[in-house]
Amino acid sequence: MENKKDCIFCKIAQGEIKAEKIYEHDNFFAIPDANPIVAGHSLIISKKHFENTLDLPASLGMELLDAIKRTSEILIKKYNATGFNVVNNNFESAGQIVKHVHFHIIPRKKNDGLKLFG
Ligand code: 5GP
Ligand code: ZN
Repeated sequence: MENKKDCIFCKIAQGEIKAEKIYEHDNFFAIPDANPIVAGHSLIISKKHFENTLDLPASLGMELLDAIKRTSEILIKKYNATGFNVVNNNFESAGQIVKHVHFHIIPRKKNDGLKLFG
């Protein structure tokens, strides 16, 4: 599926809604999260509409990993982070709100107080 009407991330991907792209390649781009849980919290989003990771073609795996690595490096530098989390919520029961596949990149620092898992 190329894109979906009323999907917020499709609208951003197509430039219908403006967003600051911090990284972009053929099939993915990254933007700051609108409600960051820490400074620099960003999202890697597929340009095409796939609902979740199960729908994402495995052939995009290498490009996705590269997008994760490059975006994380950019954020580490920009926010003086010493680590980062990659979070990907799939389906409502796992906390997925936007039904267009995306990966959270969360820059971390020692003692930043953020608790992600319990
Ligand atoms: P999830 O679906 O993984 O629970 O989270 C969706 C994430 O997308 C949330 O962290 C939310 O703040 C972010 N988000 C929702 N709508 C927008 C938007 O229009 N622009 C941006 N930059 N982030 C958004
Ligand atoms: Zn979409």
